[in-house]
Amino acid sequence: MTARVEIINTGSELLLGRVLNTHQLWLCRQLTDAGFAVTRQVTVPDTGPEIAAAVRESLGRAEVVITTGGLGPTSDDLTREEVAKLLGRALREDAGVLQHIAGYFERRKRVQPASTKVQALVPEGATVFMNQFGTAPGLWMEVPAGQFRAAGGAVLVMLPGPPRELHPMFREQVLPRLRQHFAGLEDYAVVTLRSSGLGESRVEEIISPPLQELLQQGLELGFCARPAEVDVRLSARGPQAAARVRQARQVVERLIGPFIYGEGEERLEEVVARRLLENKTRLALAESCTGGFLAHRLTNVPGISQALWGGVVAYANEAKSLWLDVPPALLAEHGAVSAPVAEAMARGALQRANAEVAIAITGIAGPGGGTPEKPVGTVFIALAWREGIHVQPHLNAMDRETFKYVTTQQALDLLRRWLNGLPLEQGRP
Ligand code: ATP
Repeated sequence: MTARVEIINTGSELLLGRVLNTHQLWLCRQLTDAGFAVTRQVTVPDTGPEIAAAVRESLGRAEVVITTGGLGPTSDDLTREEVAKLLGRALREDAGVLQHIAGYFERRKRVQPASTKVQALVPEGATVFMNQFGTAPGLWMEVPAGQFRAAGGAVLVMLPGPPRELHPMFREQVLPRLRQHFAGLEDYAVVTLRSSGLGESRVEEIISPPLQELLQQGLELGFCARPAEVDVRLSARGPQAAARVRQARQVVERLIGPFIYGEGEERLEEVVARRLLENKTRLALAESCTGGFLAHRLTNVPGISQALWGGVVAYANEAKSLWLDVPPALLAEHGAVSAPVAEAMARGALQRANAEVAIAITGIAGPGGGTPEKPVGTVFIALAWREGIHVQPHLNAMDRETFKYVTTQQALDLLRRWLNGLPLEQGRP
């Protein structure tokens, strides 16, 4: 038996198409990875009757009901009042919350609007989650069996709307408490392995047949495909959960190990940056069609300055010659999008930076500029190191933004392979 969770996202802006409901995605992921079963999610406008009806319905079905939004000080923030009314609990002012709100404005040297005091009103019997990044506290209430659901009680959690307030509150305060509250329930194990370089159906074709026995024993296998990467999710419930997931992981790693770059929430640029830093490897970049996006992704990782020397965006032929020493004759003979030019760009960057490794990218992002020999999407990624060079061609025929993402993913993956001593050919296993 597992705890069922229903999520109620409140906010008219979500239904007007003004704000993307990212809480739905984020909370579902956090909850399912922790072994809870999200069985329903609904979005309702900021009106009292709609909120009350949704909460009443969910409390009649689920062990956990989570609301998001509507805890602020404005007239459309009605969740707290509606829930207190529905549960028959009085609202009382909480001195700790009042002080927290006053402190929040004091630290920012801002005058506290009188309306913000309403956020210190807490339904009787509720536990308060202080909001590190805002004023509205989160609330946890236990609803007794029989009040809404004959079969048992429920936990009702109210969370603030802004993601930067909700995420840390949920991760640090709510999830540990939910885990503790439902500790007696069935064991659950999960791992998400992140891969790059193989398509979803190819991954499935390779790993599914050898996992059949474990699947029959209750292992759950899921795939999630995004541009240039596929997540493999392995989960199980029951007393053998951890052992089944461990065994399945071994099978997957044996079959597609070189394509797996990380697990959980890890991103490819983080994994690559960590390896560069561990190996004390200095990297230089030479980008054309990705316009600096590879540098952008790497510079999102804290600490990368210890490994990344720099990079250039050499778009025009003259820039390739001036900044990367690509011979004009080579450009004239092969064209800017070619393996020899990619190679020369990488060598140029390596030498100019006196780096240990350099990556160069040249390609045709489209929609124009393709030819029968070099169609739109043609890309050459070159990786140069002091003793060698590898040039990898790809065909990434897609819109410009996806093209940039996929191409930089392939470049990062090539670098990961080199850093880990794996074969550089990014083909089929
Ligand atoms: P506040 O004190 O800011 O009023 P609140 O708890 O009342 O907080 P809301 O007013 O419902 O929260 O939402 C505040 C903002 O948070 C919204 O304008 C929106 O930008 C963001 N937000 C709310 N719900 C979601 C959601 N489901 N997904 C993504 N963002 C959301």
